Amino acid sequence: MTEPDFRHDVSVTLVKSAAADADVLFAARVSTAGEASLAELDADPGKSKGLINYLMRDRHGTPFEHNSMTFLVQAPIFVFREFHRHRAGWSYNEESGRYRELEPVFYTPAADRPLVQFGRPGKYEFAEGTAEQHERTLTAMESAYRHSYAAYQEMLAAGIAREVARAVLPVGLFSSMYATCNARSLMHFLSLRTKRDNAKVPSFPQREIEMVAERMEAEWAALMPLTHAAFETHGRVAP
Ligand SMILES: Cc1cc2nc3c(=O)[nH]c(=O)nc-3n(C[C@H](O)[C@H](O)[C@H](O)COP(=O)(O)OP(=O)(O)OC[C@H]3O[C@@H](n4cnc5c(N)ncnc54)[C@H](O)[C@@H]3O)c2cc1C
Repeated sequence: MTEPDFRHDVSVTLVKSAAADADVLFAARVSTAGEASLAELDADPGKSKGLINYLMRDRHGTPFEHNSMTFLVQAPIFVFREFHRHRAGWSYNEESGRYRELEPVFYTPAADRPLVQFGRPGKYEFAEGTAEQHERTLTAMESAYRHSYAAYQEMLAAGIAREVARAVLPVGLFSSMYATCNARSLMHFLSLRTKRDNAKVPSFPQREIEMVAERMEAEWAALMPLTHAAFETHGRVAP
């Protein structure tokens, strides 16, 4: 029996990108400058901060689509179920449970992950759990994960196809995928999958997808600092 690995965190790696603030400017300026707007690719985008802010504020969204970022994401399957609901401006490829044997890597919450929810559906608030609740959570999860992965391996050893045997594995199992987006589709994702006090439209995402979103946002902010700043200034609403 392979010993499972229990993880509290998620991984996000920016593997490929063509994304800069200047990409927003040349696309926007074609309106007035035609092909001469290509000169904006070499311009100092700092001088055009105002244009980026105007586009964000007035929700002229398409200039924010002329860029690309590809992330390798490793997270539990329950996070991917939520992630794949984002259809517009996203491309996905995920590892296959039919073509490869799935590794025993499972999610367990870190000690600081709030465990107790209150309030109403759609607007839950969370509180820390007691030490006993944390202990119970870890024990229950680890036991269920060990049991289901042992059943999976027994079925494979008995000659059962991977695509059939995987049905016993839980949604806490880690998967990996490439996710490619542009700044506009990422902003829409961030507006829904992060909880921020400065958001004009509040959202109440599950903490684990928010952990993925936060890592993506940090990578994007480094590539497109002016666009990110404008997103913050205008209440984290996707243009
Ligand atoms: C806090 C939270 C709780 C949620 N709870 C649930 C739940 O209980 N059950 C559940 O099923 N889902 C739930 N969801 C998922 C949610 O309903 C959306 O599927 C998900 O947030 C993706 O949003 P989206 O459709 O705007 O994104 P995308 O699919 O990326 O679409 C982006 C935008 O493109 C436009 N668009 C895309 N497709 C169409 C279309 N077919 N027709 C018209 N316009 C389109 C819309 O303007 C849309 O906002 C939840 C999401 C959040 C953030």
